[in-house]
Amino acid sequence: MTDHEHEHGHEHGHEHGHEHYDSPKARRARSEYELRTMALEALLVERGLASTDAIDRYVEYVEHRLGPHHGARVVAHAWADPSYAARLLADGTAAAAELGIEGIEGARVRVVANSAGVHNLVVCTLCSCYPWSLLGAPPLWYKSFAYRSRAVAEPRAVLREFGTELDDEVEVRVWDSTAETRYLVLPERPAGTEGWSEDELAALVTRDSMIGAGMPLAPA
Ligand code: FE
Repeated sequence: MTDHEHEHGHEHGHEHGHEHYDSPKARRARSEYELRTMALEALLVERGLASTDAIDRYVEYVEHRLGPHHGARVVAHAWADPSYAARLLADGTAAAAELGIEGIEGARVRVVANSAGVHNLVVCTLCSCYPWSLLGAPPLWYKSFAYRSRAVAEPRAVLREFGTELDDEVEVRVWDSTAETRYLVLPERPAGTEGWSEDELAALVTRDSMIGAGMPLAPA
């Protein structure tokens, strides 16, 4: 099983994406996905293509071993060590491997850095490509048609809904993921964290800040 559930746009083709991410409609869609997933699992098992145990182990792996704590470790290390940050921006896959994080999807990870003048936002307009090895499974909103279309058409409006207000002078760059290239945002290190340990820094790095939808937490 891979994360690459290519649901090409056709079945969503007539929506216009102004719905709220956790609208009743979105919740119905989730239970529909759940039903589809159960049906798929039953078929795979029935035809001998996968065992229930194997599927359970995979779900266990995705839910518990993967997660944004890996990405947060990478970001915190980059904040603490400028030479690592340079290597991370040059080759995200190799730099993650330096910390023992290997991709389960075998994709290239490209890291894009926020700065005073640039804010990066990651989307997969086609489906749900995402750096699983660094962030775990994508949130439901990342896979929603509303986000996939609006992140490109009106990124500032989307960011505002996530509570991320940017000055007008800040350039917003939107990165469209594919199965081959997945993106991770390197947020700016929050002010007031001088001398912090990497563990303390990592605790400020939210999942959404590594997608670009949010910002890191501020020091308490
Ligand atoms: Fe995708």
